[in-house]
Amino acid sequence: MEKINIAVDGVSSSGKSTMAKDLAKEIGYIYIDSGAMYRAITLYCMQNNIINPDKTINESKLKEHLPNIDIRFKLNPETGRPDTYLNGKNVEKEIRGMEVSQLVSPVSAIGFLRKEMVKQQQKMSLNKGVVMDGRDIGTVVFPDAELKIFVSASPEIRAKRRIDELRMKGDTKTSYEEVLENIKYRDHHDQNRKESPLRKADDAITLDNSNINIEQQLQWAIDMYYNTIRKK
Ligand code: C5P
Repeated sequence: MEKINIAVDGVSSSGKSTMAKDLAKEIGYIYIDSGAMYRAITLYCMQNNIINPDKTINESKLKEHLPNIDIRFKLNPETGRPDTYLNGKNVEKEIRGMEVSQLVSPVSAIGFLRKEMVKQQQKMSLNKGVVMDGRDIGTVVFPDAELKIFVSASPEIRAKRRIDELRMKGDTKTSYEEVLENIKYRDHHDQNRKESPLRKADDAITLDNSNINIEQQLQWAIDMYYNTIRKK
């Protein structure tokens, strides 16, 4: 069967990664988490004094360092999902923490960085058969994607899901209020930035998953995939 690229965009912690990962596994596609790339760059900035004391980004220093930053994904045989590697080191756990979450929005708003990330994302997807999730996949990275999905849910439901996930991973410190505030902050920042703001592509299908579970969401995505393939 001819392969397509699938763009999954949406607001923070909307469950789009879960859906994109499960869908990719189900249909034998490669999953790419574009948010993990911005998170890995943010971690690099934290480790290399590229974040100023007032939490702004030292853009000229980042530009100098950019050629030295290598981000890759490698399949984790235990989880069956890809882990993120920054310059050869598995950083999957570190990039999901609150510290990175609080700094990633300003990092990902930098124009020259986005250009480079988009270039790498498009290169990874040249052979098609990719499910990629993020904020600008349907609008910028794959404007011609055959299937574009836009996922949303209320901020409160998203915060509840995120806190459950953090607890499962052993984080007992972060509070629900902190997570909710971070989600609202990132929504606002991502939707109002100058460079590639988060918006639904005109030809994307919206899924509000506030009241459906993971299995129902996955089934919906699989149905959308087969509908698209049938029409080709
Ligand atoms: O998807 P995730 O929440 O892990 O993404 C982290 C952050 O990276 C987002 O809040 C957003 O600021 C940024 N991002 C982006 N463009 C993408 C993916 C993520 O700007 N394609």
